[in-house]
Amino acid sequence: MSTPLNPVALITQKRDGQPVAPDDIARLVDAYTAGEVPDYQMSAFIMAAFLQGMSDTEAAALTDAMLHSGTVLDLSGTPGIKVDKHSTGGVGDKVSLILAPIVASQGVPVPMVSGRGLGHTGGTLDKLESIPGFRTDLSMQAYKQQLTDIGIVLIGQTEEMAPADRKLYALRDVTGTVESIPLIAASIMSKKLAEGIDALVLDVKCGRGAFMKTEADARTLAETLVAIGDDHDTPSVALLTDMNAPLGRAVGNWPEVAESVACLRGAHDDTPLMEVTYALAGEMLALGGVADTPEAGRQQAQEAVASGEALDCLRTLVDAQDGDVSAIDDPSTRPDSEPVATVTAPQGMRGTVTEIDALAIGHLAVDLGAGRRTKEDTVDPTAGLTLQKHIGEPVAPGDVLAHLYTNRTEQLNAFTKALRNAYTVGDAAPERGAAVWDRYTPNGWASQA
Ligand code: URA
Repeated sequence: MSTPLNPVALITQKRDGQPVAPDDIARLVDAYTAGEVPDYQMSAFIMAAFLQGMSDTEAAALTDAMLHSGTVLDLSGTPGIKVDKHSTGGVGDKVSLILAPIVASQGVPVPMVSGRGLGHTGGTLDKLESIPGFRTDLSMQAYKQQLTDIGIVLIGQTEEMAPADRKLYALRDVTGTVESIPLIAASIMSKKLAEGIDALVLDVKCGRGAFMKTEADARTLAETLVAIGDDHDTPSVALLTDMNAPLGRAVGNWPEVAESVACLRGAHDDTPLMEVTYALAGEMLALGGVADTPEAGRQQAQEAVASGEALDCLRTLVDAQDGDVSAIDDPSTRPDSEPVATVTAPQGMRGTVTEIDALAIGHLAVDLGAGRRTKEDTVDPTAGLTLQKHIGEPVAPGDVLAHLYTNRTEQLNAFTKALRNAYTVGDAAPERGAAVWDRYTPNGWASQA
């Protein structure tokens, strides 16, 4: 018989840099999921793991414990190669809302289980819930049925799927323990592998607004994620993408849905947002077996937007999940979608926008009401901002920098200051670098091939 679980001993072991046995990690995760270990002890353990790091063995044990904390779905009854995408988190990262309909419209089934905002980054689940009526709480039966019927389903994690991740994710969000390679890898891969997918594309973000600030860390995270996929017989590809500036112009839940609809109408095709979206779509279409190469898949994805097929697929999805399709057809009809304030460029701000600090904008979006500061907070679906000046655009005093959407109007002065401070303006337009930096598969990095 094994000795009783002693959380304090495991916390001190981890705190002091001693290895923790895989079996002990599994028992701790099980007990936490069952409510037998309180949040404060789990917080201490994950902070110790955050500070000390985790060995590959510990990280694999954590992933497996989280994966098997609930049901691992079997989607073998649904025809086709089921492919999903996951982002490591960014600011203005609305890619899933654009990408999933593009890919599904081309016949690759997309079962997507999304998370809520984490720290200063947004979450697809919060964005979906900002669509009036949209239901994200489908039963497992309804999830499978919808995937079979229309080839796309986007929901939140259910009680059954990786419940340990759901609890830990919420805890990490409010305990300063998000930016850890093993914790992020275990979180992402446990819930993605529980979905029953056949292949996975990972958008590993790097820069100011990402959890991985350095390229070295982002590369390690990409390698870790792809290796876990490989270990679980789930072919995975990671793209390393830029997250120094917000992706697109809208940050906040409903503002991002509105921008996604515009993207599906082809309005923002030549932007970093769509460069990232099309690159990920190309990978998904190739993994899904409907394109010969990721490059061919990218072109197919562009055609799906140009023809309107992708937008039709979004409408079908919203309708299937009880959302208000008229809000998609004309996002300006959504109640409360009028901005409450306009921030202009102050005296002395003249030149070309060279940087917009994604981290500062992410924090501002949370302050406006688009994210959570505590586990119990609810988000304001329409809160957020839309940037009217982006990188490379000219600016002069009095020009509108951004529109703000918030109920917290008593703090408008602070919001205005924060928004202006996020901008850097220089004399010359910066060169537009690639938004997709590199690609990783089990064969290695594309840049090193
Ligand atoms: N996304 C996740 O799902 N989990 C993390 O820990 C970070 C980003």
